[in-house]
Amino acid sequence: MAGVIRRLDETVVNRIAAGEVIQRPANALKEMLENCLDAKSTNIQVTVKEGGLKMLQIQDNGTGIRKEDMEIVCERFTTSKLQTFEDLTEISTYGFRGEALASISHVAHVTITTKTADSKCAYRANYSDGKLKAPPKPCAGNQGTQILVEDLFYNVSTRRKALKSPSDEYARIVEVVSRYAIHNSGKSFSVKKQGETVADVRTLPNASTVDNIRGVFGNVVSRELIEVGCEDPKLAFKMNGYISNANYSVKKCILILFINHRLVESSALKKAIETVYAAYLPKNTHPFLYLSLDIAPHNVDVNVHPTKHEVHFLHEDSVIESVQKHVESKLLGSNSSRTYFTQTLLPGLSVSGGSEVKTSHSAAETGERVYAHQMVRTDSRSQKLDAFLLPKEKPPPGPAPTRPVNEEPPSDTLQPAGEDVDDVDDADLLEALAEEDKESSSSNAQDLQRKRPRKEQQQEEDEQELPAKRRAIKLNSVKELRTEIAEDTHKGLQEMLQNHSFVGCVNPQWTLIQHHTKLYLLNTTKLSQELFYQILIYDFGNFGVLRLSTPAPVYELAMLALDSEESGWTEEDGPKEGLAQYIADFLKKKADMLEDYFSIEIDQEGNLTGLPLLLDKYTPVMEGLPMFILRLATEVNWDDERECFRDFSKECSMFYSIRKQYILEAEPGEQQDGEGNSWRWKVEHVIFKAFRSLFSPPKHFSEDGTVLQIANLPDLYKVFERC
Ligand code: ADP
Ligand code: MG
Repeated sequence: MAGVIRRLDETVVNRIAAGEVIQRPANALKEMLENCLDAKSTNIQVTVKEGGLKMLQIQDNGTGIRKEDMEIVCERFTTSKLQTFEDLTEISTYGFRGEALASISHVAHVTITTKTADSKCAYRANYSDGKLKAPPKPCAGNQGTQILVEDLFYNVSTRRKALKSPSDEYARIVEVVSRYAIHNSGKSFSVKKQGETVADVRTLPNASTVDNIRGVFGNVVSRELIEVGCEDPKLAFKMNGYISNANYSVKKCILILFINHRLVESSALKKAIETVYAAYLPKNTHPFLYLSLDIAPHNVDVNVHPTKHEVHFLHEDSVIESVQKHVESKLLGSNSSRTYFTQTLLPGLSVSGGSEVKTSHSAAETGERVYAHQMVRTDSRSQKLDAFLLPKEKPPPGPAPTRPVNEEPPSDTLQPAGEDVDDVDDADLLEALAEEDKESSSSNAQDLQRKRPRKEQQQEEDEQELPAKRRAIKLNSVKELRTEIAEDTHKGLQEMLQNHSFVGCVNPQWTLIQHHTKLYLLNTTKLSQELFYQILIYDFGNFGVLRLSTPAPVYELAMLALDSEESGWTEEDGPKEGLAQYIADFLKKKADMLEDYFSIEIDQEGNLTGLPLLLDKYTPVMEGLPMFILRLATEVNWDDERECFRDFSKECSMFYSIRKQYILEAEPGEQQDGEGNSWRWKVEHVIFKAFRSLFSPPKHFSEDGTVLQIANLPDLYKVFERC
């Protein structure tokens, strides 16, 4: 029997159409959010129950809806934003077709409470199937509009069944709100589940775009953002936003794209951008981007179906290409940092994904770019990088120290050997160091004189003492810390450091070395800190002393530290004077122990007079001393013996490590005159020399970006052969 064809009831037609416009709670929310923004709201609060299926409420502080208009707002094709067809081409508000509220009211119960500025009170009305159910009732309320959507899809059971997971729907809602929040910095947004007091996303009215990205996506990405912005009058578009640099990558590409302030998607643009990043990011990882495009309204096809998030616009290919080029130039071009992509890996390690690192490249100061491929040296006898970077370089101060230990076979590393932790080899080493001190003391003094003429009260003297005989340390805590170091040694890395060829310093923080046919980029800061830590633990109780020429009052040092931003001091911490006095008194109480174990000397008057001599010809940069003193009082657990030694050694090694900020601050003219280039000398002849014999690199250095392979020479030769 043939079916009878009947005309569908109008409400059913409307419902079907509405279901197409509003496919899930997040669509409805997006439309309503845009209405709020069109109404010039600056504060938008979203409350959700059961993923928006039970309830979706959105409160704004915008212009409100006039009482006269309340009757028709939910009818199709009613809008306050468009009068003629020509207006369509110049549309700048989000909504234009008056379809959203109508659609929502066909598939849910809608209640609108609204108040305009000149109305005495607010009005509330209920809607269903696009119609006002009863005349609006006066009620109390602030200026703005609250739209309450309940029981979404109550009359479309197939749709309701398709949306099974409220938590999934809620996640989509949070995503929409947070993206609009990022795009609308200066306005505050919040979204929360009903009944919860804490919002899942909340942005503040005075927050910047980056603040909002941080709030939503976290610190890890917000730290690695590059600001972008470009414009092309011919193509009639403007673009701005933030993109992640090559240090950052995620499993899935995050592209937050707004075109004319509407959240949209463009797979063509996404593809174009992913191509750019593919050259910089490890395989199968992706960038984060927030891009806002302003395209001349008449070039954008806004008359697309509301569910089509994909946009298209005139000159699409050219605009995309232009954006792509800009992104690429920003990724490459930031001249304070540059990115090395590394395929990994280290000797003796299985290959595990690439990693990359941002490093300040020292050639930037000379206005010249040095690419990784230009930094390769294939013969250890040939010139070092310094020769290229510092053409007028003077010879390093004094002869390079040739220590007996450096000639010893690599196996003779400073490692505990069972019970004999304090074996004679170390004593020999220290005696050798003492010998050398006598020889080179005068040139050291001159060196110091020249380097820091301003810091008179902190100038160290060349006078250095070493205990005549090495003391055996029987403390279990120290032995445990030594074992900890030994057991965590990365053998491959150790072998590499023992047998490396020094290539050159990129800057205070990064050093290039070669091992076999491979070129590595090493984080000097992290490596030197670990080196000093190990020296502090292994030579525990056996250090020489670096005497300060003028005693430095601990109180003053603490004050200096508290004055610096780094300390994070706030008024709530109490007066600085009180804290500084406390620190001075506290460290004075520990003076005996500090001197006995660590050669830190504090005299009766509370003056610091000596620091440990950790490596021959090495003095820490004194700019770090105040923070070191402060952190000794705040960061060290003094109650537990082992933790105390560990914490102390960590703090002390941080102070002694080669650190970019201090070196750059202390020696601004360093690049030009070559005068104070002693940090380069120290890195090569003290720190990296010590790596040859005194060092047990921990395993995590092979994975955390401390050591990176940046080139393999045979591969490079292949490239050259082709040229
Ligand atoms: P459109 O946004 O395309 O005009 P909508 O169905 O989204 O259509 O909204 C219909 C009308 O309701 C809008 O034109 C506007 O006048 C009014 N309106 C909706 N939401 C708000 C709001 N939050 N504040 C003020 N007016 C609103
Ligand atoms: Mg709208």
